[in-house]
Amino acid sequence: MTSFDDFDFAPSVRQGVRDAGYTTPTPVQAATLPHALKGIDVVGVAQTGTGKTAAFVLPILDYLVKEPSGGKRRPIRALVVTPTRELAIQVEEAIQTYGKATRLRSTTIYGGVGKGGQRTALRNGTDIVVATPGRLLDFVGTNEIDLSHVDVLVLDEADRMLDMGFIRDIRKIVAQAPEQRQTL
Ligand code: AMP
Repeated sequence: MTSFDDFDFAPSVRQGVRDAGYTTPTPVQAATLPHALKGIDVVGVAQTGTGKTAAFVLPILDYLVKEPSGGKRRPIRALVVTPTRELAIQVEEAIQTYGKATRLRSTTIYGGVGKGGQRTALRNGTDIVVATPGRLLDFVGTNEIDLSHVDVLVLDEADRMLDMGFIRDIRKIVAQAPEQRQTL
């Protein structure tokens, strides 16, 4: 794929790509998007700054737009786990940029700040959660986050999360998500 026009994105997602000013996929995007957009599990290995964020955010947005959840309640259908708060914020910014033309909602959950604002956002309903492991499990433990409707799970910088000793947390998180899901 040499152009974003070659991908069958939903119109609102195509608009997000256009708004970001992208015309050509980066190598990791060209290699992974065809599979990720089909719902296939993908492991992407590339250095920082090579466009990995869009490589998983665009398939999430495309899936959620094409398969809207019925009813008023918004179950969490996509979860991105990141090793640090900084990375969670970056991913959230990417979702806001690429997802601007969609009507999807995303919420960022991380430690080191009060829980009040995050709790309110969760209560209001969110399609996507971007979270660091510890705070995510806090909210899972109090039943304020239900991962049983997660169709797409992203482990961002999975190697770094393992280096940081998050393996037990990751196992707990993965165990809460349905077995039938896409993992990126
Ligand atoms: P990332 O590796 O995901 O942090 O992305 C690194 C930078 O590349 C970010 O500033 C993105 O906005 C930018 N970027 C990602 N994909 C593309 C693309 N296809 N064309 C141009 N810039 C891109």
